[in-house]
Amino acid sequence: MSKCIFCLTVSGQFLSEEHIFPESLGNKTKILPAGCVCDFCNNGVLSILDSVFVQFDGIAMMKALHQIPSKHGQLKALFLQDTKIKHRGSGHVEIQLSSNEQVSSSDNGAQWTSIGRTKLTPSYIKQVARAILKQAYECAFLDHGPLVLEGSFDPLREAILTGKNFDSYLAIKKQVSPDPTKGGCKYIPTSFGGVSGLIAVSSFFNIQLGTVFPFGSDEGMPLDQFNVIHFSGLD
Ligand SMILES: [Zn+2]
Repeated sequence: MSKCIFCLTVSGQFLSEEHIFPESLGNKTKILPAGCVCDFCNNGVLSILDSVFVQFDGIAMMKALHQIPSKHGQLKALFLQDTKIKHRGSGHVEIQLSSNEQVSSSDNGAQWTSIGRTKLTPSYIKQVARAILKQAYECAFLDHGPLVLEGSFDPLREAILTGKNFDSYLAIKKQVSPDPTKGGCKYIPTSFGGVSGLIAVSSFFNIQLGTVFPFGSDEGMPLDQFNVIHFSGLD
């Protein structure tokens, strides 16, 4: 019998498979088969969280620079506040900066800085954190099966589906060497005050984003290496 690992329905429709990581990041292998996630969750909230993750500025920028197409095979220009990244045929990317001051020389040649599109408000940051938690929870299901369907994981499912009662933070790695060949998610199961949860770190192109649920169970997260932005259940 099919059962949704998010809303736990057994009576919904189950026609769709679920990509643990967005298809538009090239994921063709980490997939939950039809029957694991109901279509209502899959096509609704999970689809929104996937979009939020793919559009996170660092990820969107790497996707544009390395010409990784959308799931429909399209290459789209990326417009940051002060930078345009356009595709000019295979292997040719044009970067238009608004000002010379964005460029400086470095030991490796030149580097540029850009201002992202999206303000890192608590409500936006919380959506990114929920997207990471979604990936980690699905990886945990892949590894541990029905164990994660136990009632002690109900608050985690609620945090992913609604963001209610999700007080935590998003941790963004301060210094990374972007790498287009890297992608995946690490998770550590936790238990804190009778609530089962996860420490989750998602790393695409080596851009590392982490979060914890519940808050307080983050022993082992090397937070000094991250910029940390907090949000609350009300954001
Ligand atoms: Zn569902």
